[in-house]
Order: sequence, then structure tokens, then C-alpha cells
Amino acid sequence: MQRIESLIEKDALGASLLSKNTENKIDHEKIWSQGQDILAKTLDSQVYKAWIKPLDIKSIHLSPSNEKDFDTEVTLLAPNKFTREHILKNYSKLISDTFNDLLGRRASLKFNISENRLPSSRPTTIPQKKSEVLLERGQKTLTAPEGNLNPGLNFSNFVIGSCNQFAHAASLQVSENLGRQYNPLFIYGGVGLGKTHLANSVGNASRRRNKKVLLVSSELFVSELISSLRSNSMSNFKAKYRSLDLLIIDDIQFLDGKERTQEEFFHTFNELHQKNKQIILTSDKVPQELLGIEERLKTRFASGLTCDLQAPDFETRVAILCKKAEAKQILLSEEVASIIAETVSTNVRELEGALNRLIATSELAKRKLDEKLAKEVLLSFSPRKAKEITAEGIQRAVIEVYNVSLSDLVGKRRTQNIAFARQVAMYLSRKLTSYSYPEIGAFFGGRDHSTVIHAVKTIEEKSSKDSSIKEIVAKIEASICG
Ligand code: ADP
Ligand code: MG
Repeated sequence: MQRIESLIEKDALGASLLSKNTENKIDHEKIWSQGQDILAKTLDSQVYKAWIKPLDIKSIHLSPSNEKDFDTEVTLLAPNKFTREHILKNYSKLISDTFNDLLGRRASLKFNISENRLPSSRPTTIPQKKSEVLLERGQKTLTAPEGNLNPGLNFSNFVIGSCNQFAHAASLQVSENLGRQYNPLFIYGGVGLGKTHLANSVGNASRRRNKKVLLVSSELFVSELISSLRSNSMSNFKAKYRSLDLLIIDDIQFLDGKERTQEEFFHTFNELHQKNKQIILTSDKVPQELLGIEERLKTRFASGLTCDLQAPDFETRVAILCKKAEAKQILLSEEVASIIAETVSTNVRELEGALNRLIATSELAKRKLDEKLAKEVLLSFSPRKAKEITAEGIQRAVIEVYNVSLSDLVGKRRTQNIAFARQVAMYLSRKLTSYSYPEIGAFFGGRDHSTVIHAVKTIEEKSSKDSSIKEIVAKIEASICG
């Protein structure tokens, strides 16, 4: 990874990163603190507090280049062996990705045990599972001031653009009329587009009105539920959830396939709903598209208001960057913001990542955050200029592989081979283009949108069960994307 290396004189980076004197020590601590900020936003807040927050940084070393696969070695300190192992197993990839992003270098991670604590310092006090984090705290989780909310995510720092206007308005409305208007509120959208941010904004606003709020990831909800079932403490579980004014379940798509949990969730949902307690759900898909979730739950999810978040347009991206910089008290010119916004267009999280990296580089290399630096640093993002992908192009790629004709693909015939090829083409059209379901249906001989939804679901299911299907679909996809 040449990225920063070519941009910054090696000495400048080396001198600021290598930890030989106290001044430099501050630098790696500063980088870790930025890394922790990023991880805090990425991970569930309970998980972050239990595992990432206790880690200290020991050093960041640069290896002489070309000597090793990795050009940077980061050593973190875990409070004990147990934590160290858990982190290695579960979070090392995420942490090293975070360093990669921040440093623009490939970092290898090492975990030592802090020397100032006994290696065997009562690992039992370290929560073993997410569920136990919650269980150990029991009722406290509910009454804890934050209710698992991230106090930094608010309406006031959410930038509104046409991509999120509706979802924002709906969320604001809900926060002012808990349980009385749109219940549940179902917010869906791709990764990093602001679902968690909006959900927290409602949570924080409601808390300020002295409402009882709890935000859980669906993972955490599930593990807590399972623990309660195991320990026969379902009545506590139920009492706790029933006492809420607002329950937010983030990333509901991960609830899939867990039948008993869905059963319990169904009852909890109904009870809260009947008592006019507000429920907010976030997801990466619309309710109908959620795989492995019972029909009756999906119907419930869709029974309130469903709103989506789209990728931000250029102006919104610039506005978001300026707002983020302002919050960090960094002076960011509009020119520099425009350069970032032009380079990174997929999602807000990546946009923020690019900004963080630019700021880190400017601090490390002691260079002004100007257009020149921005261009240099962002070169490494090398935007994959997506080839224009059309439904036609997809159809052509598919008929070649399945040996059917275009008129078959868009026609009425339903032989197995043709029907399957059609489903694959519909699936890829959904995945690779921004066409809506009805639009895709139109490309395939005017089929109904529900047929397209069904096709997408079928291929998703089949390729998750059958690796040969998965492979061939991936190959067609690669041939289309080039
Ligand atoms: P999601 O939950 O959809 O994956 P997040 O809510 O975690 O995405 O958003 C990713 C990052 O982008 C967060 O740091 C969030 O604060 C920021 N973000 C997303 N949308 C906006 C927005 N409209 N205004 C300001 N920040 C945003
Ligand atoms: Mg999220």
C-alpha cells in the first residue's frame, strides 16, 4: 500500500509515528483515540464499552519498507488474556481495517497484555457475551442515562438533503408524538446512510422529554432473549421491555431465522404496540424483502410508516463534510470538501472516513489541509468508475451463460431453465442498478414488481444454500461489472 508513503516525506511520517520520545507517544495515542471514535460508531455501544474501550495503545512502528508484507505494526494492550483472545477472534479485522484507513498503510496488529495489571486479573468480571453485558446490568440498562443511545447522534447534526428528507421528517414527527402517529417507524437503507444516526436522534430527543428509551441491536436483543429463556427469567425480560416508551431495534435484518426469538418478539411487539408504545426499526431492506423473517412479523413491520434513506447527492455530501469538520473544529474549505465529495460518493460513513484520513494525514505530516493534500490523499481512494450498467447489459450476460434467447428471457415461457435465468437477471438488475422493482419488471416483459421481489428472494436463498449457484451468479456479476 503505497498510499501515504508517496505523499508524505517518509521522515515526517516516521518521525511522528515512531515512538522514541514522549512527543511521539502523544501521536500514537491520538491516532488510537481517533480509531476508537470510529469504532465506537461502528460497533454496538455495549460491545464497544466492553471490549474496545479498555484497550490501550503501546506503539506504532514502521517497518523498513519491502521487508515485510505489512509496513506498519501496531501494538495494542489488552487488560487480560481473556479480552485479548476475544478481541483477536472477533474484532482484529475490524481494528486493523480502522488503522489501515487512518494511516493509509497496511497495519499488522499485535496484542500484548498490559503490564500494570495482573495477567489473570479476574477475567470473570469481563462480560463474556454481549447478552451478559446486558444481563449483568439488568434493569440498570434501562435506567442508565443513555439507554444505549449514542448522545452524539442528534437531529441537530444530521444534514438534510433530498436523499433523506422524508425519513428525517418522519423521525422528527415520531419523536414529538411517540406511539401516536407512525407506529412502527421502519427506516431502511444501505450501509452508512444514516439509519443508526436517525434512530439515535429520535431516542435522544425523546429522552430529553423524559421518556423511557432503549436502543438495542437486533443481535443484542436476541442474545438477551435467549439468556432470559435459558435462565427462566422471561418475566424480567418482558417487564423490562413493557416499561418502555420507545424501543428502537437497530438492524432488524439480523433477526432472521431465529424462530423462537421471532415468536417472542412478535408478542413483545404486539404488546408494546397495543399500549401505544413507540417502536422504531431499522433495516437494510424493506420489510417484504427481509429473508428468514416470518410473514406475520413482516406485516407488522410494514404496518406503520416505512421510509428509506438514499445515497446523498453531491451538495448534501459537501454539507455533511462541512458539518463534520465543524464538529471537530477543523477548518475545511469548500474546495477541499468538494474534492472529497467528488471522490467518495457511496455512503456517509466512507465520506467521514475519507475526511478523518485527510485530517490525520495533515496532522501527521504537519501539512496544511489544502486542495493539494486532499488530491494526494484521495488518490488512494481511486474511485472505481463504475461502468454504466444497464438492464440490457445484464440480460445479455445472463442469456450467454444460460443459453437462452432474449425473447425467452423477457417472454412468457416458464421452462425451468428460462425461469431460472430470468430470476438471475432480475436479481442482478436489482443488485447492480438503481432501478426500482416496477422498473425492473418492465424490462422483463412488463412483469409485476412482486415477481421481481420474488425472483430476488429466490436467488438470494438459493445462492446461500448452494455454492455452485452462488459461484455462477458471482461470475456473471463479475463479467458485467468488468
Ligand atoms: P447506518 O446505520 O445506516 O449504517 P449510520 O447512521 O451509522 O449509518 O451513519 C454512518 C455515519 O454517517 C455516522 O457517523 C453518521 O453520523 C453519519 N451520517 C449519516 N447520514 C448523515 C447525515 N445526513 N448527516 C450527518 N451525518 C450523517
Ligand atoms: Mg447502523
